[in-house]
Amino acid sequence: MHVDLHTHTDCSDGKLTPDELISRALDRKVSLLSITDHDTLSAYSALESVPAEITLVPGIEFSCGWKKLEIHIVGLSIDLANPVMQKAVADQQQARLVRARQIAEHLEKQGVPDAFDGTAQIAGNDNIGRPHFAAFLIETGVCKSTTEAFKKYLSIKNLARYWPEVSTSIEWIRGAGGIAVLAHPLKYKLTRTRLNMLLDDFQAAGGRAMEVISGKQLEWQTRDMASLCIKRGLLASCGSDFHQPDLSWAELADIPPLPGDCEPVWRHFA
Ligand code: AMP
Ligand code: MN
Ligand code: MN
Ligand code: MN
Repeated sequence: MHVDLHTHTDCSDGKLTPDELISRALDRKVSLLSITDHDTLSAYSALESVPAEITLVPGIEFSCGWKKLEIHIVGLSIDLANPVMQKAVADQQQARLVRARQIAEHLEKQGVPDAFDGTAQIAGNDNIGRPHFAAFLIETGVCKSTTEAFKKYLSIKNLARYWPEVSTSIEWIRGAGGIAVLAHPLKYKLTRTRLNMLLDDFQAAGGRAMEVISGKQLEWQTRDMASLCIKRGLLASCGSDFHQPDLSWAELADIPPLPGDCEPVWRHFA
C-alpha cells in the first residue's frame, strides 16, 4: 500500500491543481493520500472527484511559532466543516496576508519595489507564501534561483511572530476531531535536546504523531526518527511533502517505507 500523508497543491505553494494531484497519485498507485496545503482547505472544495482506488484523508499543514522558529504542524483526519477549523483557516489567511505585506516591505527596503502586487498575481490565490515571492524575484530578474531568493531575500528574521503557538494549532486540529502530527522534524535543524523540548511541548498540548518519513531520506535518519517516535510513544506518519512534478528528489509518494516497529498514524483515524 502506498501512503502519502503530506502533499501540496496550487491552493498553497504547490504547482498542480487538486485534481491533477489526485490523478498523479492514481498513476503512482497511492491508495492513502492527504492533501495538506499550508493553512488552507481550499483544495477540498476545489476537487471535482476522487477515484475509488484512493482514500483521501482530510488534512492541513499549519504554520506555527515556537521559540521564534517557524514550525509546521500537520492535522490529519480532520472534519473539514468543523467551525473551529473554519475559523482557524480564516485567521491563518489573515495572518498570511499581513505577513506577506511585511515581506514586501522588507523587499522594498532591499531595493525591490512592488513585490506584493507582483507576488499576489503569481500566487493566484490569497494564500501567499515565500515560494511565490521567490518566483517573483526570479521573474523580475532579481534572483536566478529559488535557493538564491531564499538565501538572500526571504530568510527574514522573526517571521514566526505572525503565527500562533504550536499549542494553538494542536487545539484547532483536536477541536476538529483530527490528529496533530509534527511535520518534518529534521528540517528545523534543532539539536536533539531542543527537538526533545519541542516534542515535550507538542505532546503536552495533545500532539500525537510525528513524521518519521519526510520525503527521500537516508536510512540512518529513518532509524533515528523511528526510535525517537517509539521512545516517546508517538504514532508515525509519512509523506513526500510533494509540491511540483519536475523535482526528481521530491516526487509524490517517493519515500522509504515506514519501519515495521512504528505504529502507523492511519490506524487511528476516526
Ligand atoms: P512560507 O509558507 O511562506 O513560510 O514558505 C515556506 C515554504 O517555502 C515551504 O513550505 C517550502 O515549500 C518552501 N521553502 C522553504 N525553504 C525553502 C528553500 N530554502 N528553498 C526553496 N523552498 C523553500
Ligand atoms: Mn511549501
Ligand atoms: Mn512544511
Ligand atoms: Mn509541506
